[in-house]
Amino acid sequence: MSLDQAAIDRLAAAPVAPGRLLIEGQWLPGEAGENPVLSPIDGRQLTTLAAASPADVARACASARAAFEDGRWSRLAPSARKAVLHRLADLIDRNAAELAVLGVRDNGTEISMALKAEPGSAAATFRYYAEALDKVYGEIAPTAPNILALVHKEPVGVVGAIVPWNFPLMIGAWKIAPALAMGNSVVLKPAETASLTLLKLAELALEAGVPPGVFNVVTGPGRVTGEALALSPDVDVLVFTGSGATGRRLLQYSAQSNLKRCYLELGGKSPNIVFADAPDLQAAAKTAATAIFRNAGQVCVAGSRLLVQAEVHDEFVSILAETTKKMTVGNPLSLATQVGAVNSLPQLEGNLGFVADAASEGGQVVTGGARVLQETGGWYMDPTVVTGVRPEHRLYREEVFGPVLAVTPFKDEEEALRLANASDFGLASGVWTANLSRAHRMIRGIRAGVVHVNTYGGADGTVPLAGTKQSGNGADKSLYALEKYCDLKTAWIQL
Ligand code: ADP
Repeated sequence: MSLDQAAIDRLAAAPVAPGRLLIEGQWLPGEAGENPVLSPIDGRQLTTLAAASPADVARACASARAAFEDGRWSRLAPSARKAVLHRLADLIDRNAAELAVLGVRDNGTEISMALKAEPGSAAATFRYYAEALDKVYGEIAPTAPNILALVHKEPVGVVGAIVPWNFPLMIGAWKIAPALAMGNSVVLKPAETASLTLLKLAELALEAGVPPGVFNVVTGPGRVTGEALALSPDVDVLVFTGSGATGRRLLQYSAQSNLKRCYLELGGKSPNIVFADAPDLQAAAKTAATAIFRNAGQVCVAGSRLLVQAEVHDEFVSILAETTKKMTVGNPLSLATQVGAVNSLPQLEGNLGFVADAASEGGQVVTGGARVLQETGGWYMDPTVVTGVRPEHRLYREEVFGPVLAVTPFKDEEEALRLANASDFGLASGVWTANLSRAHRMIRGIRAGVVHVNTYGGADGTVPLAGTKQSGNGADKSLYALEKYCDLKTAWIQL
């Protein structure tokens, strides 16, 4: 959808109501009080958010469990669930402008990107799974003739979903839509710094006809609210997008409680590899910049390691640096902004720490490297390119989740592949070459969930996003995502 600046400014002037918990269809305060929500745009308080206590979380999970057991959603005819999810998609579209602007005020993503990536993709995701849900069949197994064996696909029960702050609606929808489509109940824990659009989504879900108790939302700190959800004996499957450190904790909580299945999407350090025979170095440089700098680098699939073949390295870095310097950093509510705000002050400080460490380890900061627009009170960082980054450097190994690009030269295809795979992560990647055979060799050789060729980003809802290595397990998006939200049950019948 398109929106003019005046309409954005009007929406952005509206006061934001305090966020409350949604349990059994009721909007409630949190037993643990409330926390301020600061806007990354100017550092000022936007509103407050209810903090759910472990007892609140237990009530939300019990509500989801009761709703699942009594069949108010889980035993509806698929056509009825489908109609509700379509209505929800329509309501998201109808409220897209409000959702996008609210989200930007909350998390700092550029409005031009938020409009497309947030309500736009959330609505598309709900539509996709609304359409998919009555096309999922069970199976008859090829057994001996005196047996009839059926494989049923059943909902798992209660799904706990813990989501991050970079694209809350898009990533939230990737989990909530297939979970609800298969007949499960959901308890959602949004990130402390990006809960507001997901609370609005929950309001729209009730309006669309998702029955009370089927979709509950608990807000609050990860170490309290998130932990209580992950430990809950009422949660059958836990789905998560966030940091590796939290992912490890979730596996521990699962082990300490009911061995709930955990599906983790844990970010990356994705290589974007430019060969000297790339069809268009200008286009590759432009895309390499957007692949890391949009949403201030706060993108799990960001192309954060740029590997460039030695003979074009200097030329490529110079085009890239020029492109980067021209990017407009600023108020994410402005349609002209290309690089919005960093989500929080600790995140910004962490980004700057990475640049300082890179410089002390021998990297050269070619452009950027500093906090900017401090006078706004908001959290902004100049897009940063660091060259001479080696595999042993911290900037090569760890995810920044900020606008910082590490550049490393390589000699030939064999070294490119070795460098690409020299990472604990395996989420995304890119290859720029005009040589078809080389492109296919790289696709086979790179250990990652997605390999882009002569482009970067943009993979839509028809394809899975499935991390390898320490980038996680299980797929979001596409029909493959449905597998996380189903149990298989065999019926073995003697004829
Ligand atoms: P980031 O470092 O990018 O903020 P996190 O993994 O900390 O990523 O956050 C992603 C989500 O995980 C957020 O909703 C956050 O509240 C939640 N979270 C953080 N710590 C925990 C925890 N110990 N248990 C459960 N959820 C948590």
